[in-house]
Amino acid sequence: MDDRRTPLERTAWQVIGPPLYYCAECLLRVRVVVHPGSEPVIARDSRCTHEGEIVAPRRATLIGKGGMSVATKARLKARQAAARVTGRDV
Ligand SMILES: [Zn+2]
Repeated sequence: MDDRRTPLERTAWQVIGPPLYYCAECLLRVRVVVHPGSEPVIARDSRCTHEGEIVAPRRATLIGKGGMSVATKARLKARQAAARVTGRDV
């Protein structure tokens, strides 16, 4: 484990939860753009120098809960915003 998160990023993890995808080594956010029929495009943070595993924790947050908590709603909104940004970048 080589945690390279900034104090702000650590706070965000605690308040709204981890990013949609993150590097298993340094815990920095990783953007993954899925194109149907081809390999996903992976864009790592500039501070991340790893090639290893990417963690996608979202299923764990959506399964096993009776209703959506405020935190879950916040994560969904963050995800929608991220999707818009990603769309512009492609
Ligand atoms: Zn990394």
